Amino acid sequence: MIQITMPLNFLGTVYREIRQSLVDMGEMFDLLEQPAEVSDKANAKPLTVSDGKIELDNVFFGYETERPILQGVSLAVSGGQTVAIVGASGSGKSTIGRLLFRFYDVNDGALRIDGQDVRDITQESLHDAIGVVPQDTVLFNDTIRYNIAYGRDGASHSDITGAAQAAQIHDFIMSLPEGYDTMVGERGLKLSGGEKQRVGIARTLLKNPPLLLLDEATSALDTETEQGIKDALARAGQGRTVITIAHRLSTISEADQIIVLEKGVIVEQGSHADLLDRDGRYAQLWRRQLSEEDEAAA
Ligand code: ADP
Ligand code: MG
Repeated sequence: MIQITMPLNFLGTVYREIRQSLVDMGEMFDLLEQPAEVSDKANAKPLTVSDGKIELDNVFFGYETERPILQGVSLAVSGGQTVAIVGASGSGKSTIGRLLFRFYDVNDGALRIDGQDVRDITQESLHDAIGVVPQDTVLFNDTIRYNIAYGRDGASHSDITGAAQAAQIHDFIMSLPEGYDTMVGERGLKLSGGEKQRVGIARTLLKNPPLLLLDEATSALDTETEQGIKDALARAGQGRTVITIAHRLSTISEADQIIVLEKGVIVEQGSHADLLDRDGRYAQLWRRQLSEEDEAAA
């Protein structure tokens, strides 16, 4: 039994979601093609999440030894807080997410969750503790109920509808003639980008992980969808520690802490107000985004 369910869970839950969310649009490699780089220590223990504090302690990392990517990144996110990571494409944002999942081990420094080094805990418990809301949720050729329940084995109907309500997709589902039994996916009803993202949020809410990783889509959703998704994500983040690789102005400005990453180095760190006051890189990024939004709205 274990031999069968473990690889399925692993492949299904972890890889599929991670591939979708952490593999950057266009520029990235395929995580599935990566050999398993890490394995559990013989005495690995399950992770115990108490507060949900995430710490990167002077982390150095490169995919290849001759090419360092993260160069001394230190970051502490208290339990329940949201950190937004911003920076140019290729600066190392998604890499931080991959290290959090321990797809790779750091070259130097450490990454800890509630004081436990991720190298000392079982990968299964680590993956169970982290929810991902991917940029592009993969739908299975199955019912919408199945697609949401995929977040948790043995979820009841009310668990599923509760998660769908919080993700603001319940009313849409109820408007379909077959409701939760509607077939979706390539061979079923095609959902819009915003609807798929809500299914992804519902799935994650059902999984109810203490830690949440969001790799936001840059693609412009229309304003109404954007507001709905924003509310659903804000709900998903309640009571959890959230690391968000941020593109949306709204998420960025409301984060407890913002990190500006440049070529694998944190160049600025603080709240939205702090960083605007500072009038450096973040203020520049912010002004640029505002003017792009104006252009898009015009
Ligand atoms: P961001 O998310 O900020 O756009 P990433 O963290 O995905 O950036 O990537 C940082 C750098 O690491 C990029 O230069 C990217 O090309 C490189 N990189 C990412 N994944 C791999 C990999 N598997 N092998 C080699 N280089 C990689
Ligand atoms: Mg990225």
